[in-house]
Formats: sequence, structure tokens, C-alpha cells
Amino acid sequence: MSGTIRERTEAWEAEYLSPYAQLSARSRGRAHPEEPCPVRTCYQRDRDRIIHLCRAFRRLAHKTQVFFSPREDHLRTRLSHTLEVAQIGRTIAKALRLNEELTEAIALAHDVGHTPFGHCGEEALDEAYRSHDPDAHFHHAEHSLRVVDVLERGGQGLNLTHEVREGILAHPKALRGPREYLAEECSTTLEAQVIRVADQIAYLNHDLDDCLRLGVLHEEDLPTEVTQILGRRHSQRVGRMVLDVIEHSMDAPRLAMSEEVALASEVLMRFMDERVYHSPLLEDERRKVRGVVQQLFDFYMNNDVALRQAVGTAPEDRKLRARVVCDYVAGMTDRFAHSQFVHHFLPSGFPSFDV
Ligand code: MG
Repeated sequence: MSGTIRERTEAWEAEYLSPYAQLSARSRGRAHPEEPCPVRTCYQRDRDRIIHLCRAFRRLAHKTQVFFSPREDHLRTRLSHTLEVAQIGRTIAKALRLNEELTEAIALAHDVGHTPFGHCGEEALDEAYRSHDPDAHFHHAEHSLRVVDVLERGGQGLNLTHEVREGILAHPKALRGPREYLAEECSTTLEAQVIRVADQIAYLNHDLDDCLRLGVLHEEDLPTEVTQILGRRHSQRVGRMVLDVIEHSMDAPRLAMSEEVALASEVLMRFMDERVYHSPLLEDERRKVRGVVQQLFDFYMNNDVALRQAVGTAPEDRKLRARVVCDYVAGMTDRFAHSQFVHHFLPSGFPSFDV
């Protein structure tokens, strides 16, 4: 056999993968061209780069999925969520003969731009950022792209391929059901669409599983459509949704779900939104998160020394400074944001060596 291992893998992809798959050899490439690896395809390389080089990826271990700073060791974090998305995504991609490595690379990077304290933290950071720059806004998918393009490796970024970057940005902007987002025109790769579906399958099911574990919800609270159509156990529900996507998307240029499973998924989504994501039960926590994020933001905007110490720069220009502060606060883990709040706002006695 001739050629490098990568070239042989690329030839195998061309022969074996679906006509709708994104072939590694047809990548639109990187912003800064690089010598190809003799062993790995460009998407394998992107996946490895996220795991080995991306500091924001490692911080996901200490970022909240739904419950803040959980003391329960078995609750999902952003990192375990990311791994579940990658696993579900690969299962679907493999069954549909799509590019597994591209799918996995998108999954691993799709949430690296998440703030501390889950979606409450994201809303709070958006508000805080706008309060210092009315033209600005914050959204985690856009920020995930900023992390891999600009912020990682001391400002060099990871120089990922076009298709992985596009997949990161293809993340839905709001809580939407599969019928809505699967029906819309989508110019991205099928692998990017797989991750949109895998993300929703993962979070709806594992958030429900966490709520049942915590006793926030009980088996008997679940709508009948959910238990009858999707199943009574966590693994049944995930399996049913994954299999349904595979069966309805086989050899097709776009992803689909059956009407029945899509409807049941939407019932579950609305149920989780009402009972958990926007539940009055979490209002007190949301209020605290807003306070912490806004006060940290204001503090770094108004304190040159602290900002320079934290990020090595303190721009005079207010918009530029707000951008720097937003990047810094967005990158914090739950526990780091908590410790910075304690450090900057609560007295610790004198002399204090507690930093
Ligand atoms: Mg996600």
C-alpha cells in the first residue's frame, strides 16, 4: 500500500462514508495553513488539539450544567455533558456513515465558551456586559468560537478547520424543539447537525436524570407522553431518541425524527423548562448569580490593578476593557468566580494572606 497513513484513511473515507458525509480530504482548511499530519486526518488533529491544548476544555469540569456548585459528586458538569454529547454524536454519525472524528471534534468544543453558573450565568454576563457597552452582547456559542479562534494558547487560538468552527457556531440560540430546528434550512455539514440533535438528547435526558436523583422531580411527575413514547428509564429514553434519529435520517441529505418522538421530546423540553430551567425554585439562586457576575464585572472595570494582575492588561478604552473583562469572567469556573467574589467583597481579617 502506498501513501501516508492519513492518505490511506482519507481514501477509506471516500470509499466507505455516506455521499452526504464531510470528507477530511475535502476540508476547506485552516485560517493559517499547516503541514498535514502523516498519521491523522485534519479532524482527528482538531479533536486531539481540543483535548490536549484547550485550557477552557479542562475548566468545563468545574462548570455547572444546571445546579450551581453541586456538592453531590454524581451530578453532571459541563465536561460530563460534553462527553455525553460526543458519545451520542458518534453513535449517530457512525450509524449514518458520517465523519465520526469531525462530529467528535465539534462536540468536544461546542460548550467551551460557557460561563460559570450555567445558563443563569450566561444571562447575567450578557446583562453585565451590556451595562458597560450597550452595543455588546454575550452568547456562549459565539464565545466558544472566540475561545478556540482567539483566546486559547495565549491569544494564538487553536487554528481549527473551517468545518469544526462552523459546527461550534451552529448551536441553537434558544430552547427550541427538534421539529423547529430540524425543519430549518441549514447550510452546515450533517456532522454539525448531528451535534445539535445530540446536544439536546443529552441535556434533556441527563438533566432529568439529575433532577430525579436530587429529588427535585419524581418519576410520577413525568408527562405520560414522555414515559409512554420515550420510556420509563434514562437509558430507554436516550436509546429511543437516538435510534429514531438514525432510522429517519439513513441515506438522507438532512437529519429527521419521527413526528411521535419529536413531539414527546418537545413535551419533555417544555416540562423541564417549566419545572427546572425557569422554575421559581431556582429564582433565589438566579438572583445571587446575577449579583456575583455583575459585581465582579463592575469591580474589574473599575480596578486597574486587579484587572492587570488577572489578565496582564487594563485597556483605557471602555469598550476594549469591557471585552477583556467579559472574556475573563466568562472563562471562570463556578468555584473560581465564587472565590474571587469572596476575596474581593468579603472581609477576611487583617493581615490577610488568603488569595
Ligand atoms: Mg451543550
